[in-house]
Amino acid sequence: MKKITAILICVVLLLSCSVPAFAEDTDSFGAYKHVYIIGWDGSGAAWGNYDTPNFDRIFGSGAVRYNCQGELPTISAQNWGSILCGVSCDTHGFTNDNTSGTVRNSDSDNGSIFRFVRNEMPKAKLCSIVHWHNINKGIIENDLGVKKIWRQSDPMVVDEICGLFNIGYKPTLMFVQLDDVDHAGHSYGGQTQGYEDAVKNADKQLGMIFDGINSSGGMEDALFILVADHGEANGGGHGGNSVEEQSCTVAITGKTVNNVTLPEGTRNRDVAAIALYALGIEQPDNMTATVPNNLFGQEHELSFEKDELTFDKFCVKLLYLFVKFANIVCSPWDFIVV
Ligand SMILES: [Zn+2]
Repeated sequence: MKKITAILICVVLLLSCSVPAFAEDTDSFGAYKHVYIIGWDGSGAAWGNYDTPNFDRIFGSGAVRYNCQGELPTISAQNWGSILCGVSCDTHGFTNDNTSGTVRNSDSDNGSIFRFVRNEMPKAKLCSIVHWHNINKGIIENDLGVKKIWRQSDPMVVDEICGLFNIGYKPTLMFVQLDDVDHAGHSYGGQTQGYEDAVKNADKQLGMIFDGINSSGGMEDALFILVADHGEANGGGHGGNSVEEQSCTVAITGKTVNNVTLPEGTRNRDVAAIALYALGIEQPDNMTATVPNNLFGQEHELSFEKDELTFDKFCVKLLYLFVKFANIVCSPWDFIVV
C-alpha cells in the first residue's frame, strides 16, 4: 500500500510540474512568442528625414524601408485596414466613415490578424491600444477577446502601454496606434518645423515604448515592428497621390531579422503577413500581404505542426500509460485506499 501511495504522490507532483509548461507550449508555433506593431499615423517616410536617435538605436540592426507603398487613397481607415487585414483597401472596403459607427465581429469578411491568431491560439493575450477610435471599433473584431483600449492623446496611450509592461503584461500580439504626428501634418504641413517637432517627439515616445517592453523582459522572443499608414502632403493633410503621402516607413527588429533594406515594392500591408509568419500561423489564402524575401535569416524555422511532441507532452503521455498499466495490474482498491 505504501508503494501505491508513493506512486500517487509522484503522479501528482509530475502533473503539477508538467501542466503549466504544457500550457506555455501553446504560446507560439513560430520563432517568436510576441509581436508588437507600433503604428504611427501620418509619419510616412519621416523617420528617415529627421534626427530620430531612438528609431536608429532600435532598428539600427534591423530591417528598414522608408518608402514602402501605402494604399491609395492615402487615408487612415483604408491603410490601417490593409495593415491589419493584409488585403488591399478595395478588398476590405473600410473607410473613415464606415469604421466610425459600426462594430465589427468575426462573422465579417476579411479578418484581421487578431482573428487568425485567435483561431490558432485560444489562450493568446491580444491587445490593441489606440488614439484613433475607429481602429478598435470598426476594424479589429469585437468578439475575439482582444483587450481594447482607447485613449484621447498619444501621451496617454504611451502611459497606458508602459503601465501594462510595468505589471509584467506580455501579449502575444499587441497593436498600438498614435496620432499626434498626423495632427501636426494636418495643422502645419508635411515639410514644416511643426511636423518635424512632432516626429522628434514621437521618437522619444518610441524609445519609451521599446524600453518599457525591454525592461519587463517582453522583448525576449519578440518581433517589434513600426509602420506608418501614410505620409503628409507638403501643404498639409493626406488622401492624395503625392510621393510624400504614399511613402510609408516599415521597420522591424527581432532575433532572426536581417540587417537589410527591405526590398523595393514592400507595402505597409505586408506587416500582416510578417506578424502571422513570426508567430508561425499560416496566412489565409485571400491575404495578399507577403513576407519580404530578405527579412528573416536562415535560422528562422517555422513549425506549423501543432502536434509536435515536446518533453512536457511526452511526460504526460508517459504518465497516462503508467496509470493505465497500474490499473491493469493492481486492484482498483489499491489506488483508492491510501
Ligand atoms: Zn492616418
